Amino acid sequence: MALDRVLLESRSRGEGPNTIRFLQFSRPCVLVGYHQQLDSEVRLDFCKAHGIEVNRRITGGGAVLFEPSHVGWEIIATRDHPLLRGSPMELGRILSEIFCDALRERLGLAVSFRPRNDIEVRGKKISGTGGTSEGDSFLFQGTLLVDMDVWQMLRALRVPMEKLKAHEVDSLMERVTTLKRELGFVPEARIIKEAVASRFSKALDVELVPGSLTPWEEKRLRELLPEFSSPSWVDRGPQRIGSRTLLKAIHRGDGGVIRLLLDLDMARKRIRSAVLSGDFFAFPSRSVYDLESLFKDVPARMDAVEEILLGYFSQRPSPFPSLGPEDFLMAFHKALGKVPYLDMGFSFEETHEIFPVCGSLKEVLMNGLEWCLLPYCSKDLGCEFRKKDGCNECGLCSIGDGYALAKRYGLKPVTITSFENLVENLRRIKLEGSKGFIGSCCEGFYIKHAEDFESAGVPGVLVGMDSTTCYDLGKAQDAYSGSFEHQTQINVALMEKVLSITEKAA
Ligand code: SF4
Ligand code: SF4
Repeated sequence: MALDRVLLESRSRGEGPNTIRFLQFSRPCVLVGYHQQLDSEVRLDFCKAHGIEVNRRITGGGAVLFEPSHVGWEIIATRDHPLLRGSPMELGRILSEIFCDALRERLGLAVSFRPRNDIEVRGKKISGTGGTSEGDSFLFQGTLLVDMDVWQMLRALRVPMEKLKAHEVDSLMERVTTLKRELGFVPEARIIKEAVASRFSKALDVELVPGSLTPWEEKRLRELLPEFSSPSWVDRGPQRIGSRTLLKAIHRGDGGVIRLLLDLDMARKRIRSAVLSGDFFAFPSRSVYDLESLFKDVPARMDAVEEILLGYFSQRPSPFPSLGPEDFLMAFHKALGKVPYLDMGFSFEETHEIFPVCGSLKEVLMNGLEWCLLPYCSKDLGCEFRKKDGCNECGLCSIGDGYALAKRYGLKPVTITSFENLVENLRRIKLEGSKGFIGSCCEGFYIKHAEDFESAGVPGVLVGMDSTTCYDLGKAQDAYSGSFEHQTQINVALMEKVLSITEKAA
């Protein structure tokens, strides 16, 4: 990873030539994207116990488990070649298509580029790509999946594994593939590298000459290695904000996910600082810090945030190829929209788990709550009520507490057994002219179905639950149909707090 930085710096200072580099690792390693939070993406204990190294790329995008068989390829070059002058998106497309040509010609693979940054074989991803830039130079890279231990990947990356069964691994394998799977054998890495190098040489009309590091690069590498092996590089992230006065928001736009943490000084109603992370790309990478630095000690109001964001984006071509100012605005809007929750008595941590529907939280609670919607996935796996409404409050799972809580506050509890069942219940609540609902679901479900909740037109408040959800397990489709075979836990304490605040508000 340090060498990536060295080669990009070297090229941008004219110390080294345009370069194609291939990389392989002798041990498996997890590489998180430049803008990602390490602890949200990686199971560090598992990696340590299994000799899997962990580091951070200088490029954005998501975390990968890079296995010894995988072949990484990189182009480090200036943008003065006529084919390489387009936007970062266009550059990515052109370089990815050249790579695809190489695999098609040499290995006969039906491989193609899938925007924004994947390379696929018949709809299955076989290589991810990404890049970054410095001055007029760029580094663009991809990882070709040659052979893969899916179980190891699922355990090393933050996918809750305890409940995964063999058929769930199969469903993951339907979305990704490897050279071994496609060809029936593992081609020699040398053959892949020769094919790719020769295709790039032809497409860009350049002669490739084997090379090694220049003295400047050797020296720079020695300087950078300590930094790239230090925790401050590998494990940077939200701990840059040390306080517990954080509001967080996740915005999932078409161009990627933005996670925003805002550190607030409530007494002065100002944003102390902001941290942006996510799986997006930035050219150059430090653009994220430049943007964050504009939010030091500024008023915690959307008009101030909007002025800063629009000013930033109007002064330069956007460094974020897939995100626009509206995406960042939405993330700030969601985070600052939680300030009134604090006045209502919720802690900063609790604001992370409360999602109002059809109105502000205050409006929803003032309106009153009449129904309590509880997810089947929190029911005990062996319970006779697992796939239907009802609960005899036997005490074996958190749903029993949820039913008891609902009755204590005079609400009608109902178990939601599938997405269609949720829609039916919301329709029924609306037709009956009932007041609102309190419900429990995971954050992933809320993010995916926020628009469905809004369009149902019933005011309500959803309370998040534990994080081991079907989204973590890649089983959202099972959840949709009501066949998710895993047990979650509803947050009864927070639901009770919402109900007690509602009672007082009423
Ligand atoms: S508390 Fe209710 S849902 Fe949970 S196991 Fe008992 S009867 Fe089933
Ligand atoms: S999406 Fe999955 S984990 Fe989330 S509430 Fe639904 S079934 Fe449970």
